[in-house]
Amino acid sequence: MKILVLNCGSSSLKYQLIDMTTEAALAKGLVERIGIAGSRLVHQKEGMDKVTIESDIPNHDVAVKLVIEALMDAGHGVISDVSEIKAAGHRVVHGGEFFTKSAIVTDEVKKAISECVALAPLHNPANLTGIEACEKLMGDTPQVAVFDTAFHQTMPEKAFLYPIPYGLYEKYKIRKYGFHGTSHNYVTARAAAMLGKPIEQLKLISCHLGNGASVCAVDGGKSVDTSMGLTPLEGLMMGTRSGDMDPAAVAFIMDKEGLTTKQMENLLNKESGVLGISGISSDFRDIEDAVAKGNERAKTTLDMFHYRVAKYIGSYAAAMNGVDAVIFTAGVGENGTDTRLAICEYLGYLGVNADEAKNNVRGKEVDFSVDGAKVRALAIPTNEELVIARDTHGLCK
Ligand code: ADP
Repeated sequence: MKILVLNCGSSSLKYQLIDMTTEAALAKGLVERIGIAGSRLVHQKEGMDKVTIESDIPNHDVAVKLVIEALMDAGHGVISDVSEIKAAGHRVVHGGEFFTKSAIVTDEVKKAISECVALAPLHNPANLTGIEACEKLMGDTPQVAVFDTAFHQTMPEKAFLYPIPYGLYEKYKIRKYGFHGTSHNYVTARAAAMLGKPIEQLKLISCHLGNGASVCAVDGGKSVDTSMGLTPLEGLMMGTRSGDMDPAAVAFIMDKEGLTTKQMENLLNKESGVLGISGISSDFRDIEDAVAKGNERAKTTLDMFHYRVAKYIGSYAAAMNGVDAVIFTAGVGENGTDTRLAICEYLGYLGVNADEAKNNVRGKEVDFSVDGAKVRALAIPTNEELVIARDTHGLCK
């Protein structure tokens, strides 16, 4: 059974066609600049070079059509007919309190996704557009929605409520939802397999450190707390997002700088974090290069990042009354070997003890703890597409 996995952004669409008998990606690609001049599709058949198709792509309907054409192409394609795609799995960012797990798309499901637009105004409309484009182009092929928030719906009230007037939760559902759920779910399951123990018996802290970054406390396989909140702005300092700060500073800055709500949102989401402090870039590799050249502010940026991740790990070890393993994943977690070591430096008191030689691995599963360390330190490449494909397969078998 072949499953198309789609991750639609407002101007982009990432896809993979996964064969569920082997769980291998047969082809993958990215449509960029949808609705903007210079739009294109970059497609790659497994084991072959990438091909770039420059084309006018005014909307997601055209983007999905081009993806299906690329998948059926005589040269770089992997199927001969669209009917070989048995189901499509869509990443949907916000499922609010409606979804605790993935769901087959129906009119009610689409309505619920629409009702969450206010909570994820940049993401949910694009996710819906992708679903509707597939409905138009793939007839009755089942569609499944896989939510970034669903994994965190197991959080207890004491973790998800904000200490503001309770009426605001009742009226607008203002609470912590958490994101990156698909990734935290995948890496914690892999960690249990690596440790050779049932996940029900493990306390795990998963650090998804990419452009967006979040930490999640997973007790017995269930998310009990996570650093992102109502939106993906809360929590860690990220590539361009501030993460946690005093909410009073928001009103103060708006007042002093004469900013509108939108401008302030933009400042916190796009101009802050690693980019904001360093003044150089949101990309960790650029910051590491600058540190190597003696740039002090770049050094401060990395120090802040490590410190803030370490503080979350400490607080989640406290929340769970212990921890068996700390997991690093996503771009920085999988490849940033210095970052991993710097964070582990803070965690000696917990029983984390990283082995420098074992840590010298990028993009691969590794337990980089010294032999006998009480708390294991693991690097695990995430695979959100595979989780989406598995959930879709499970619901459409
Ligand atoms: P996204 O949230 O966009 O999916 P990724 O998970 O791809 O992000 O992570 C992107 C980040 O990973 C970038 O900041 C990049 O600098 C960082 N990264 C990638 N490779 C390395 C590396 N070898 N060393 C340090 N950081 C890396």
